[in-house]
Amino acid sequence: MNKDRLIQADRNHLIHPVSAWRDHEETGPRILKSGKGAWLTDIDGKELLDGFAGLWCVNVGYGCQSVVEAATAQMTALPYATGYFGFAGEAAIELADRLAALTPGNLNRVFFSLGGSDAVDSALRFIRFYQHARGTPEKKHVIGLTRGYHGSTYTGAGLTALAAFHRNADVPLTWQHHIPSPYPYRHEGDSSDAAIIASSVAALHAKVEELGARNVAAFFCEPVQGSGGIIVPPAGWLTAMREACRALDILFVADEVITGFGRTGPLFACEHENVVPDMMTVAKGLTSGYAPMGAVFMSEDIYTTIRDNNPPGVAVGHGMTYSAHPVSAAVGLAVLDLYQNGVLASGVTAGKRLATRLDAMRGHPLVGDVRISGMLAGIELVTDKTLKTKPSPELGISKKLAAVGYEEGVLFRAFGDDIIGLAPPLCCSEEEIDILCDRITRVLDRVG
Ligand code: PLP
Repeated sequence: MNKDRLIQADRNHLIHPVSAWRDHEETGPRILKSGKGAWLTDIDGKELLDGFAGLWCVNVGYGCQSVVEAATAQMTALPYATGYFGFAGEAAIELADRLAALTPGNLNRVFFSLGGSDAVDSALRFIRFYQHARGTPEKKHVIGLTRGYHGSTYTGAGLTALAAFHRNADVPLTWQHHIPSPYPYRHEGDSSDAAIIASSVAALHAKVEELGARNVAAFFCEPVQGSGGIIVPPAGWLTAMREACRALDILFVADEVITGFGRTGPLFACEHENVVPDMMTVAKGLTSGYAPMGAVFMSEDIYTTIRDNNPPGVAVGHGMTYSAHPVSAAVGLAVLDLYQNGVLASGVTAGKRLATRLDAMRGHPLVGDVRISGMLAGIELVTDKTLKTKPSPELGISKKLAAVGYEEGVLFRAFGDDIIGLAPPLCCSEEEIDILCDRITRVLDRVG
């Protein structure tokens, strides 16, 4: 199809995820054609530096031939193998084995999903199975954070508190609850690290008390909140929340769909504080976006409790046709090789450069806050630094950012009118980080 036909066909037929349908029919789509490293080329041949790694997933960068070859070889040999009825493909077994050795503590058991939303959904079902198996079936309530994002299935959207995922959707909120997110920049009162941590711990205790400790199953959080505005909690927050969950006898689930696979430096963000969750959900960087796949890692204790509760011959009733898909698993193995052979280290070096450059942007008149964890960063925009005033919607900053960013040849994500999100591929060189930050500065100058 030529470009005009593509645009028309897109507007007439393709429904885009999480997008403003009305706007899209007037202005969309932006058609991407190819990619190499951290760079994308659109249908007109315009080169764009991808400061968001697709949708914070293409951690290893575009055009990695070893990944393409692994997928091709797997597709040629065996494009599909079910995991049902005792069957398995080789790649999924090998990937589970390698991941079990890399996950924190005894998170040795791996269930593969198709992405992050159904990883969260699966985790929630496994949690129910577990609470039934250990004789505490009344433990049904699950607590998340007000700025948490855990996918857009009905259950995941329930755990997600962000308004856009609830509007007109009648998401049933019978057992999902939320406590305030740690948000250092906008924390009211004493905003020392210790005070922020203490207020989150107190909020969790209060919520559990309100619901009754015997009724609460788990607490879910992202180590760094992503879609809620890239909010980095103070050091020690994760440890304190993990300990609080242990004291309250509720499971601690780390949703590392964004933070996993080197995004914040180490393979998993929990490693910053040596925190071992009871369960962990991942996706995105697991296959670096080359094929769809997510996973739930569960502790040995949860696994054996569920297993031992089911009599022989009785299935644990959860799974999807494409769980542990062989092509995605082969891609996962090739991507893991890349992480271990330089990409993780490259992300750490590039992350340091990104921190230096973003720190220097704090003086910009529009920049109220900069937060960064490895190669994950948020820039919060304000129109009055002292009062921390958010840009008013009439200024239309979000639309301007997207348009001007494209003109300047840089892709990032605008969250509402006040937060710019950055998550460049980990393979970026320091020079590319400089180009990225130069372009972002020009964008800010132009929209300010
Ligand atoms: N959990 C978190 C923390 C996420 O950021 C996302 C997606 O951005 C999801 C879950 C859902 O993942 P997916 O979009 O692959 O379904």
